[in-house]
Amino acid sequence: MIVAQRKPFAEIEAMLAPYKKVLIAGCGTCVAVCLTGGEKEVGLLAAELSIASQIKGRFLTLEEATVERQCDREFLSELKEPVGRTEAVLSLACGAGIQFLAEMYDHLPVLPGVDTTFIGVNEAVGFWTERCRACHECVLDQTGGICPKTMCAKGLLNGPCGGTVHGQCEVDQEKPCAWTQIYQRLEKTGRLDLMRRTLEPGRHDRQTTPAYQTHAAYKRRFDAHA
Ligand code: SF4
Ligand code: SF4
Repeated sequence: MIVAQRKPFAEIEAMLAPYKKVLIAGCGTCVAVCLTGGEKEVGLLAAELSIASQIKGRFLTLEEATVERQCDREFLSELKEPVGRTEAVLSLACGAGIQFLAEMYDHLPVLPGVDTTFIGVNEAVGFWTERCRACHECVLDQTGGICPKTMCAKGLLNGPCGGTVHGQCEVDQEKPCAWTQIYQRLEKTGRLDLMRRTLEPGRHDRQTTPAYQTHAAYKRRFDAHA
């Protein structure tokens, strides 16, 4: 899932200062799971903004709408009516959803209400950790299912670096050394021979942005436009 966190309230207020009518647009998928941009969070933010504007004697009309996914045109089209009534949209989706919304409704300002932080996992309610940097070249088969590009503070493809102390990382001793964990996982699964292999440097030509991907069945239809 994509993890995000809400921007500081003062920052959101400052972004909205030029507008009198604002649509707060939520997304019902990743940002809802990480309690940042789903229907509930849209309601909470609307209430906070409404109270703050009343205290300051500022006129602000807020509308709320949450779609299933803002990274999908089909769902974004549901916002056509409320978008038609507003001066600006504050999106609580991840950066991808915000951009897609801005592209689809490009006649008005679309503003980010959240900071997108990482691709991660749900460890427990209210606690998420990063696991993947979307590098286009997954090496998890070589590293015991632990991503060295994300979990090692130096992103070392071949480790450990020599600074690891009692299994902890030298950069942040509160965190485990990813390469120690990789060693332990490989040992546990009978694949320690992989520690002797040297992983080739990453192919940066695969990491050009913006990236695109087409399913094999749709190549003829989409690759010409990418
Ligand atoms: S190697 Fe790491 S960053 Fe790259 S795709 Fe795999 S998990 Fe993601
Ligand atoms: S101590 Fe381990 S996790 Fe930390 S930088 Fe070195 S190899 Fe990476």
